[in-house]
Amino acid sequence: MRLDIVSIFPEFFSVLDLSLIGKANADGLLNLHVTNLRDYATDRHRTVDDTPLGGGAGMVMKPDVWGKALDEIFPEATLGDGERHVLIVPTPSGETFTQRIAEDLAGADHLVFACGRYEGIDFRVAQHYAERGVEVRELSIGDYVLNGGEVATVVMIEAIGRLLPGVIGNPDSLVEESHGSAGLLEYPVYTRPVNWRGQEVNPVLLSGDHAAIARLRRDQALEKTLRRRPDMIQALRPDQLDSDDRSLLARLGWCVGENGVRPLEIRELESGDVDRLHALAIRTFPDACPPFLSHEDIQQHLDTVLSPQSIHSWIDNPHVRVIGAFLPQNSAAPEGDHGGEASSDTGDGRTQAEQTAHGEQLVGYALVVGPRADGPIAEKCPKQLSDEHCSWAHLSKVYIDQKWRGSGIAAALIAVSADMASQMGATSLWTATSTANKRAAKSYKRAGMTKKGGRTYTVGTTTCRDVVMQMTLSSASPQ
Ligand code: SAM
Repeated sequence: MRLDIVSIFPEFFSVLDLSLIGKANADGLLNLHVTNLRDYATDRHRTVDDTPLGGGAGMVMKPDVWGKALDEIFPEATLGDGERHVLIVPTPSGETFTQRIAEDLAGADHLVFACGRYEGIDFRVAQHYAERGVEVRELSIGDYVLNGGEVATVVMIEAIGRLLPGVIGNPDSLVEESHGSAGLLEYPVYTRPVNWRGQEVNPVLLSGDHAAIARLRRDQALEKTLRRRPDMIQALRPDQLDSDDRSLLARLGWCVGENGVRPLEIRELESGDVDRLHALAIRTFPDACPPFLSHEDIQQHLDTVLSPQSIHSWIDNPHVRVIGAFLPQNSAAPEGDHGGEASSDTGDGRTQAEQTAHGEQLVGYALVVGPRADGPIAEKCPKQLSDEHCSWAHLSKVYIDQKWRGSGIAAALIAVSADMASQMGATSLWTATSTANKRAAKSYKRAGMTKKGGRTYTVGTTTCRDVVMQMTLSSASPQ
């Protein structure tokens, strides 16, 4: 690639003789020329600027001097020669220079950087070369003002130059970098010593388990990007995120829809939420049922276990937590169907009652019954678990609207449920799900629960078989 730089400070660019760009230049991968703009001034003082027409502070760089310099770099013959010539005008009022632009410009044959000073270059210069068929890009390296275009030019040459084949020794270094195709910031990096000033690196990095290392780094990259650049998280496409990514994002308060990643709120439900929770509960229960259950059995369950009175009693019970997942209204539903409990597809039939005053939609809920609960809500712990010396909480329900399966919301509700169970003094959490609902069992497994035999459960008048699953809670802090 040929690079031309025009500046009144040609000596500034000796920095490009250093390091990888300097080596690329020496090796002929880059062909760098620096032109002193003053060589094209015609007066004794080699003047390149004049006062602004219309008045105002500062000086403006003269178009006639720039024209002479650039005509030599872009002689008539170069235009239409089939090569890509780009005139880059660094300016704080330009389009923001990004990795995507660097990648695009790395495909050009010839880049010419016009370094402004003072108040900048007379605007007709850029217009003139655009009219002559040169591709002109006015580019800013950030929302601040420098004294001249030289620093911006060095920044751009370094970013573009390192993308050219052969400039970076190991091209793999470019793959997982910040602002790469993954759309994330890079995970934190470490080297030896393993323990430095009391700080130990994550042992997974020393395990040699490549899949576990890749997962750890991916999680760290997602978390870091979310913290520092939520705009980048919102720009991710659903097809860039696997089910582990979705679970992590949902736990961190974001959910994946077909239009990208959207904020999610998970909070405890209150008595004012009963109507919309009832609507969600009766919508989602039938889908989780095994196919042999009759309509009457299901209806009986809805009328009793999932009645508004019953839901009120959950919310009023101090030893029970009812947790809801809310999305902003009009969040488009996700593509795919990868897990979570079950529900029916509501289409647009959502009632007013299901939306909060702020227009949020309740799209999932979980019910956690703490170790000190009693009465009908407190189901007996399955026999195979009750022998273990733990303080058990029961994850009684996790239901997600069908449209939002695969978004990571189920995993987020399970994680929050586990936290709440710990806060209620539980050391273990159990759940049971229909043997027919493989998707739910998979969700619980992904959340860290393991199978512990089965149990029977009655819906209406029919006895169903459930898989029992459990997890040990990491830290129990009594209520
Ligand atoms: N009057 C100009 C304005 O407000 O847009 C600022 C001129 S600045 C003092 C002088 C030169 O520095 C510009 O012509 C440009 O070449 C360079 N420059 C300053 N800030 C820059 C930035 N953020 N990105 C790229 N170039 C910049």
